[in-house]
Amino acid sequence: MELERNDKNPIGEEMIIPVRCFTCGKVIAPAYEAFKPRYDAYQKAVTAGEKPKETPKQILDDLGLERYCCRRMILSHVDLLKEAAPYE
Ligand SMILES: [Zn+2]
Repeated sequence: MELERNDKNPIGEEMIIPVRCFTCGKVIAPAYEAFKPRYDAYQKAVTAGEKPKETPKQILDDLGLERYCCRRMILSHVDLLKEAAPYE
């Protein structure tokens, strides 16, 4: 059924990132979407023992997330996602 397929779509992770920072109200969902693939690349490089092109701090700076409350929202979400997705 189509509904079931949608439930299993990897895009489903969009549903669990809060759209706005709880602390300051800044919209962070689009930044998270941009952050994740770059963070994955960073992690892959680190795991392979290579020097990553950019650090999570640089990625967040580049995305314009200057406040620590917003940065924390994204970083803690990525960590949660990793633990919640053991099959990835
Ligand atoms: Zn914030």
